Amino acid sequence: MKPSHKPKVVIIGAGFAGVEAAKKLGKHGVNVLLIDRHNYHTFIPMLYQVATAVLYPHQVIYPLRSLFRGFPTVNFLQANVNKVDFDHQIIYSADVAIDYDYLVIATGSQSQFLGVTGAPENSLPMRTLTDAIAIRNQVLSNFEKAAKVTDEKEIIRLLTFVIVGGGATGIELAGSLNELIHNAFKKDYPNLNSNLARVMLLQSGEQLFPSYPQKLGNYTEKYLRRQGVKVHLNSKVSKVTPEAVYLEDNTSIFADTVIWTAGVLAATPETNRSVKTAAKDKVIVEQTLQLCGHKNVYGVGDVSYVDTKEKFNGVAQEAIQQGKTAADNILRQMKGRSPEPFDYFNKGRLAIIGKHAGVGKIDKFAIKGFLAWFLWLEVHLLYLPGIRNRLGVLFNWLKYYFLGEGASRIIISTVNSEQ
Ligand SMILES: Cc1cc2nc3c(=O)[nH]c(=O)nc-3n(C[C@H](O)[C@H](O)[C@H](O)COP(=O)(O)OP(=O)(O)OC[C@H]3O[C@@H](n4cnc5c(N)ncnc54)[C@H](O)[C@@H]3O)c2cc1C
Repeated sequence: MKPSHKPKVVIIGAGFAGVEAAKKLGKHGVNVLLIDRHNYHTFIPMLYQVATAVLYPHQVIYPLRSLFRGFPTVNFLQANVNKVDFDHQIIYSADVAIDYDYLVIATGSQSQFLGVTGAPENSLPMRTLTDAIAIRNQVLSNFEKAAKVTDEKEIIRLLTFVIVGGGATGIELAGSLNELIHNAFKKDYPNLNSNLARVMLLQSGEQLFPSYPQKLGNYTEKYLRRQGVKVHLNSKVSKVTPEAVYLEDNTSIFADTVIWTAGVLAATPETNRSVKTAAKDKVIVEQTLQLCGHKNVYGVGDVSYVDTKEKFNGVAQEAIQQGKTAADNILRQMKGRSPEPFDYFNKGRLAIIGKHAGVGKIDKFAIKGFLAWFLWLEVHLLYLPGIRNRLGVLFNWLKYYFLGEGASRIIISTVNSEQ
């Protein structure tokens, strides 16, 4: 690096981690290029509410150029990065090659189908805005189709929604979809017997929410069953076809819609040198979040694995705090100082399971019911970028809470193609 050269930091991925790193570096006047394949930031925790027509798609995303309007040294580029060359310090997309002095890889994760035959072709993943819109369209379209047929078996097939995966995403989706069907759809389709519709939640293990204390898993299971969700534990999916889901015990469920929430894999771009990886293909980073063997490259958020005693769960807080630490460490390196280890402050975790019910773990306390539900709404509204989005979301939530319906239920085309 020449003495007059102003170092350039390239950040790949404008999710929770990348945005946080860019903000911190931008505040210190650092020359940053933030790259994402979309020109917006996605607030992923609320996607399930787009999929179930509680919120509109535009309420959970925020334009990146607006987000960084007050940061003159942060530039944005919409591009899909497909290769990183560590030796020449260049990243490549289909049409551009960009050099860097420091690189932050914050590309998050992608859906993983765990090698289940037919799952990638015949199930709908739940990871991006496009995925959420596709699920919403499928649910709405199937109700429209069912309204036209008289054969009860066909109606049941069209209105059976199988959700694979009993973690937070599967549970939130199951609870919300069940409410959509038995509230708003009851009014929209008065001539359709909504009792024929089924939301089925398949979990491979013996507990829902495996990463939460067992009592919260049990509470969730009871709550969902009471609401009418068919919860199936110890149900491992072996095959998905266009007509049905097959389980390892040779039973099958006829369903037109299968939603896949059962696994994620790190979304690391291709690199010219192999990188050490941990489970789920996460790149292993040092405690300072630097990539092993590459002092000027950081891996943050869902894409990385930090080798510490702390067990990370792949949640937004981890990504946000890692983004900040990477930025701090780059600032230290620029001043000739040594990077410091990542020190995670665990603020706890929350999930919504129904209209007035949630579960959560804050410090050593397990909370459930109304308090957890209310805290989830508070925290997520606080972190959602944009005043207009917050007001819009609040309005939809109030409408949903009091009238049982949030967003209008029009079938809209997808906004973008993924990956
Ligand atoms: C459905 C769902 C619900 C969730 N709910 C919660 C919740 O309630 N609470 C919570 O704390 N956590 C939740 N999580 C987890 C949380 O969303 C993630 O931990 C968090 O988004 C990780 O942040 P990140 O910055 O690492 O990645 P992301 O937020 O995924 O961002 C990665 C960014 O990189 C971009 N990108 C990827 N590859 C490339 C490439 N090659 N070129 C250019 N751009 C690229 C993507 O477009 C994306 O914008 C949920 C996750 C899912 C899937």
